This record gives sequence, structure tokens and C-alpha cells, in this order.
Amino acid sequence: MSQEPPASELQKLIEQVKASIDWEGFDKERVEKAIRETLASLDPVKLHYLENCVGCAACAPACPYYPVSEKYGPVEKAELARHIYRKEATILGKLFGPLLNARKPKSAKDLDEIVEALYRCTNCGACYVSCPFGIDSGAIIRSMLGSIATKSGRVPTLIAIFEVVERERLFLKMPALMQIWSDVMKKAEQAIGKPLPYDKKGAEYFLLVNLSDVMFYPDGVIGAIKILDRAGLDWTLPSKPLAFRPPIAAVIALSKQTKETLTMLDSDISSYNPKNVVVLDGGFVYPWMRFELPKALGRRPSYRVLHIVELLAKLIREGRLKLKPSDDKVTWHDPCQLARRGGVTEEPNLVLSAASKGFRKLPHHGAESYCCGGGGGIGCMNLQMIEEMAKLVGMPPEYLLKGEKEKRFVEKTMEAWSIAVKRKIDDIRRSGAKIVVTACPVCMHSIAGGAQLYGLNIEVKHIAAYVAERLE
Ligand code: SF4
Ligand code: SF4
Repeated sequence: MSQEPPASELQKLIEQVKASIDWEGFDKERVEKAIRETLASLDPVKLHYLENCVGCAACAPACPYYPVSEKYGPVEKAELARHIYRKEATILGKLFGPLLNARKPKSAKDLDEIVEALYRCTNCGACYVSCPFGIDSGAIIRSMLGSIATKSGRVPTLIAIFEVVERERLFLKMPALMQIWSDVMKKAEQAIGKPLPYDKKGAEYFLLVNLSDVMFYPDGVIGAIKILDRAGLDWTLPSKPLAFRPPIAAVIALSKQTKETLTMLDSDISSYNPKNVVVLDGGFVYPWMRFELPKALGRRPSYRVLHIVELLAKLIREGRLKLKPSDDKVTWHDPCQLARRGGVTEEPNLVLSAASKGFRKLPHHGAESYCCGGGGGIGCMNLQMIEEMAKLVGMPPEYLLKGEKEKRFVEKTMEAWSIAVKRKIDDIRRSGAKIVVTACPVCMHSIAGGAQLYGLNIEVKHIAAYVAERLE
């Protein structure tokens, strides 16, 4: 890594990343290349998703973006990928293109339509669960259109920059971010009244604290540390963050960069030789660390990955963690990646039932839970977030936007999200809960924002923060 002063290195990096972003134009050669690469990466599962939809629309009501507009129903969005697939990969599509709705983007306007559809999908998997043929429209939208949009240059500047900041570990050279890290660690130390067990080799549990964890739910990080300490576990954590929110590259479907980030992370974690790695983030970090890591590495990692809520459930079941239950009217919001895509649905109920006599499930929970509408990068399409992140890295907010067109796109995405989140807020209101506990920074941000928008008075907390308050 270069020894240049952080500001100029970051500045240079931002200029490089921004040079590859194109929200205005249409580079035909670049688009064609992206299509070829995307089609070459299709496997039998994705071919099934592309070929076998009967258009019954059984999946439509499940989608958080369907209430925004019918054109954002899962099939309508996936159909944009099917147009390209038919045109490029089927003989009939090549011969009778218009008859079979086989076409590919030919102009900036066509590309804009695809990109807009992509950012009206959170990859929540609700369409997959409701499709009688097991078609995962979200997976097609994310992998095929995500890569076409990203590779054609229509990529959110904020995500593109933070992807490189994570992969190059530039965050280690950013004073404001490192200050947040050390402030939270100091508070954690005070909370347990002893030094933190940093960088221990061969511990049973390795708490993977990422920068986004300390930034978005510091109480959750401190809570997790209190819990591991109180349970008397053999545990450790890294003295410096190993990643920002790994792998950010996956959000914009950059597979080579995703693999690079995961490989680097695995190499660091393996050097500590832990038996288990505990993650706090139940958003995309969970399935990537738990299910995709072996595929990226081409082997099984030497440790097991589990979410803090899985560890909490295990400790409570084994009687190793005693809680003083409250009377809080508390509920659990299932992050889609943890519950629907990861299958972790029972553990949060067990943990919260032990933590409060007032625990209630949401009317729609577990695999049937409503998405908060913020996943898939949509949560970052937020001008307030862009402004806050810009302040942290010492840049004017316009540096994290490519221009007026991207700004308009962000505003339009925020408008769509404000409709998509309403169904979740109504579900919480029906439950009568006053505290919503969950485990994903995007869900927390989206639910808190939605509650404010629709006048629902609730607190939103990370599960580790909530449980730590109930320790006996
Ligand atoms: S994955 Fe979720 S957001 Fe995307 S199309 Fe399916 S239901 Fe809609
Ligand atoms: S439910 Fe399945 S088959 Fe029916 S429209 Fe949706 S993806 Fe197609």
C-alpha cells in the first residue's frame, strides 16, 4: 500500500473511480462487452430463472416495490434481463426479435430504464419464496442487470468509492473513521471494566467488527462485547478494522473484486486461527460470509461463521447467558438476508422471548416477513447519507455524486423507497411494538426513517444492544 498522505491518495482514487462512472452517456462497446460477460457467466440455475417464468404474477404482491408501480413488479424487472437473454442467446430471439420481445439496450434511455429497475429491487427473495416454480427474479435482476449497469458505468458513486476504500483498506488512513473505531472500543473497554482481548490466536470466537458496525450501531458492538465477556467465552477481536462492510463489491455485482475482498479478509481471519467467526451484520454480510465465502475461496474456510443472534440463542439454550426479562413491547424485524436467504428465523424469537415478556412477532415474520425496502444499495441512494459520508471522509458531498443526473436518480430512488417502506411500518404499527430490534444497518436506517415519515413512535435497536441491557 502506498505511503502517500491519505487526503491526496483518496483524492486521486476518487478521481480514478469517478472517471469510470457514466450516468449520462451510452458507450455501445462497453454495454456490448458487459452483455457478453454477463451471458458467459450464466449457470443452469440462472438459465432456469430466465427461461421458465409463466408470467402468472403470483410473486408480484410480495415485492416491496410493486406498490410503487406495477412496472416494478418482479417479473417486469426480470423481463428486462430476459429481453437481452432472448436477443443474444436464443436462435428464435435472433431471428424473430421483436415478436418475442427480444432486444437489448440501444440508447442511454434504454440503459436508464434498466438501471432504474435494478435499483427498485432489494434482492429480498420474497418473489422467490412465493413463486410456484422457484424462480428467483431478484437473483436475475441483481446479477445480470447489476453487472450490465455497473459495467456500463451507471453505478452509484458512493458505493463505487467505498468499494475501493474497502478493497484497498484506505479506511485505515482516514482519521475520522479510525477515530470512530477507537472511541467505540474505548467505551467497550469501560463497559467491561478491563482491556479488550485483541488479536488473540486460536480463540474459540472471533468477533468480526467492521467499520460499518461501529459507525451505524456502536451500542450493538459494545453490547456484543459485553455479552461475550459475561458469557465467559474464549474470544478475541481485531485491534483494527479488517473491512468496511464486506464485500461491498457484491452490492454492485463486481465478482472479481468481491473475490479479492473476501480472499483478503479470509487470509487475515485465518491468521488468528479462530474456531468460529461471529458477525453482527445480518444484511448481505451474513450470506456472503456464511454461504458465498467457500465458493469465492474454492475451499471451505478453516472456521465456522455465525451471526450474533445464533450465538445468543445457543448461549441461552445452554444456560450460559442469563437474562432479566423486561415488559417491553418489543418485536423483531427479520433482515431479508438473514431470515429469508439465510434461514435464521427461530433464533431471534427464542432470544427476544427470553429478553422480554412483551415480545410479539410481527404479523408478517420469518420467511414471510416484509422487506424494509432499503437493501440492494437503495439505502445508500439517500442524499442525507451521501452528505454524512462525505463529511466523514473530508469531501464536499458533490464529490460523492457524478453530476445532476445521478442526483436526480438518487432523489427518485428516495421517493420510491418512501412508498416501499410503508407496508413495513404498517406491519410494525399493527403489532403494537414500541421497540423494533433487528440486525442490519440498512434495515435500522430504513425502519427509523420510515417510522419518522409515517408518524410511528418507535425505537430501533441492534439485537446485541438490546440483549446486553437485559444481562443479569
Ligand atoms: S427480490 Fe424482493 S425486491 Fe427484488 S423483485 Fe423480488 S420481491 Fe421485489
Ligand atoms: S410467480 Fe414465478 S412463474 Fe409466476 S410470474 Fe412470478 S416468477 Fe414468473
